[in-house]
Amino acid sequence: MKIDFCASCGRVAMKGFAYCPYCGVPLRRGPGPAEALESFAELESMQAASRARRIDELLAALDGIESDVESILESNV
Ligand SMILES: [Zn+2]
Repeated sequence: MKIDFCASCGRVAMKGFAYCPYCGVPLRRGPGPAEALESFAELESMQAASRARRIDELLAALDGIESDVESILESNV
């Protein structure tokens, strides 16, 4: 179980708690700024990778179409 520290009283609270069980201050939800930035960069690199993969697929498909067109043109000559 992950834990978090209350920014107000400094005591340990379970992550996912909306409020500190000791002082009742609202706890930050989700990842902190540094973590959010890190996961954003991770997400961005994942998106870039999937984009590159998609482009590769499209280029491969284009190659297939190109050779199909070539063979059609050749058969018509
Ligand atoms: Zn507290």
